[in-house]
Amino acid sequence: PPAASERPTRIVVDLDHLAFNLRSIRAHVGVPVMGIVKANAYGHGLVPVALHLQAQGVEQLGVAFVEEGIALRNAGVTAPVLVLGGIFGPQVAQFILHDLEITVSSLDKLRQVEAAAQALGRKAVIHLKIDTGMERIGVHSYSSRAFVEAAVASPWCVLKGIYSHLACSDDPNSPMTLQQLERFFDACSHIERLGAPMPIRHLANSGGVLHFPATWLDMVRPGIVLYGVQPDPASLRTIEVKPVMSLASQVVYFKVVKAGHPVSYGATWAPEHDTRVVTIPIGYGDGYPRALSSRGEVLIRGHRYSIVGRVCMDQFMVDIGQDSAFNEDEVVLIGSQGDDAITAEALAQRAGIIPYEILVGLNDRIPREYR
Ligand code: PLP
Repeated sequence: PPAASERPTRIVVDLDHLAFNLRSIRAHVGVPVMGIVKANAYGHGLVPVALHLQAQGVEQLGVAFVEEGIALRNAGVTAPVLVLGGIFGPQVAQFILHDLEITVSSLDKLRQVEAAAQALGRKAVIHLKIDTGMERIGVHSYSSRAFVEAAVASPWCVLKGIYSHLACSDDPNSPMTLQQLERFFDACSHIERLGAPMPIRHLANSGGVLHFPATWLDMVRPGIVLYGVQPDPASLRTIEVKPVMSLASQVVYFKVVKAGHPVSYGATWAPEHDTRVVTIPIGYGDGYPRALSSRGEVLIRGHRYSIVGRVCMDQFMVDIGQDSAFNEDEVVLIGSQGDDAITAEALAQRAGIIPYEILVGLNDRIPREYR
């Protein structure tokens, strides 16, 4: 069988655009950047993206799970890596052995980290997670005093950071963000009161980076905007970024479909007049959303055409009307062709999902090429 890399459907990751976006973010915020590379670097490929960000001097990387951190270390990534997710006691030794920074989100978890560090005879590097409004993980800011004081006093932990996560920063008009900032400052004040050195305070995700300068503090944690995509398709573009991912395939089949003959599962669509239909070899088994059935669009020969009928697991069909297309013609699903472009944001809107889901959903069945 042909090697996976010969599959005509492919994701191209533009590393120059990634570097451009990092520079653009840096110039905008003027503080260090933690590049968020969880979930396979938002579908762009964990290791190549992390290595490139490291080569561009990113100050820190962020992942969700310890397994992602270990994968980075095994690939030779030496930059500081914070694991953002909640921890389980038995995993703590793995963090310390792989030099991964730990999110500590409760007093109990602090004790687990201390026990593991003491058992290994090696200090753990930690960031305290404060809940300022997500109700996800983290100690509520309003009851964080004992937690913060215990972390400052801990002989087995190096307190490197303190952070929280913004719930509504993609909406520049939401009052929630500045409320969260105030609550975060309350938690930090417990450190000030002790006269202890202030660890790195970080709060801003992409929405914070784009819309809320007050949240930039000592470091920012952009994910989606680093990949050149807006967290909310409707939000203002306050900095210039370029899409890092493009997704293309090729026409694998051409046929004429007669008026009234339905296309694909469920027979949900049929042409009113005889029409030309091409088949594209990618489907929801690759993470291309089935919600784009009769809603998605593609570019072929510089023209924009609609998906017709249901997206199948490995294929979907496109109505090209009376136009011409040939087997092996390039089909752009995300990216530009001629003067036209399809963005991840636009596709997400058509599918009724968020741009994150488009990027992260594209799975390993699609080969990735780095340029
Ligand atoms: N920080 C934390 C704790 C996160 O969970 C995430 C992602 O959800 C990010 C930063 C990056 O978010 P975004 O992609 O919106 O910039």
